[in-house]
Amino acid sequence: ATLSAEQIDALAWDKQDGLLPAVIQDAANLRVLMLGYMDRAALQATLDSGHVTFFSRSKQRLWTKGESSGHYLDLVSIETDCDRDTLLVRARPHGPTCHLGRDSCFPSAPGDELAFLGELDGLIAERERERPAGSYTTKLFEKGVRSIAQKVGEEGVETALAAVVQDDAALCGEAADLLFHLQVLLRARGLSLSDAVAVLRERHGKPHRGSQGEE
Ligand code: AMP
Ligand code: ZN
Ligand code: ZN
Ligand code: ZN
Repeated sequence: ATLSAEQIDALAWDKQDGLLPAVIQDAANLRVLMLGYMDRAALQATLDSGHVTFFSRSKQRLWTKGESSGHYLDLVSIETDCDRDTLLVRARPHGPTCHLGRDSCFPSAPGDELAFLGELDGLIAERERERPAGSYTTKLFEKGVRSIAQKVGEEGVETALAAVVQDDAALCGEAADLLFHLQVLLRARGLSLSDAVAVLRERHGKPHRGSQGEE
C-alpha cells in the first residue's frame, strides 16, 4: 500500500508548518514503535527508498531512521487518519527502534504479549506455504490434521493436569504448547486464530451458555 501523488497533495500540509506526525507501527505485531514528523521530502524519501525517513526537528534535516545505527525501518504501508493530518506507517524494524536499545520508544504493555500470537499466526502461515526443511511446524503440517488434532488433545490434557497439581511453571509451558498447536490445527484446516477470536468477539456482551447451559 502506497500513496498516490493526489493522496500526498491532499494531506493537511499547511495545518502544522508542513510537518505531519507519523506513528510508526511494527507490521508484524502492530506494536507502536515511535513517533516522528515527516515533511513532503521525508515522505517522498520514505516512498522512494523504502526506508522510513523523517524530518528531524532537532537536526533540522531529513533523517533516515537507522542511518548511523543500521536499525532501519523497512516500509510496509502508509495510511492517513480521518482528516489527513497524521500518518500511520507500518514497517519492519531491522533492530531496536529506540536509541536506548529497546524495541519501542514506548513502554511495553500487557497486550504486547497477546499481539505476539498474531505474529506467530503469520509465521505459521508462512511455514505452511513454504514448508522449510527441518522445521517442526513443517513436520506437523506434513503429518496432517488428525495428527495435529491428537497433539492438541494431548496438550489440552497436560494443561489441565498442570493446573490441577498447581504447577504454575508447567501450566504456562503446557498452555503455550496448547496455543501453538491449536494455531497450527486451525491453519491446517484453512482457518486462523483470528477466525476463532472473531467468534469470541461476536459473542461478547451477549448472554451466553456453557456447553451444558450450566454457566
Ligand atoms: P539512527 O537513526 O538509528 O542511526 O540513530 C541516529 C540518532 O538519531 C541517534 O543517535 C539518536 O540521537 C536519534 N534517534 C535514533 N532513534 C531514535 C528514536 N527512536 N527516537 C528519537 N531519536 C532517535
Ligand atoms: Zn487527524
Ligand atoms: Zn526512543
Ligand atoms: Zn460462560
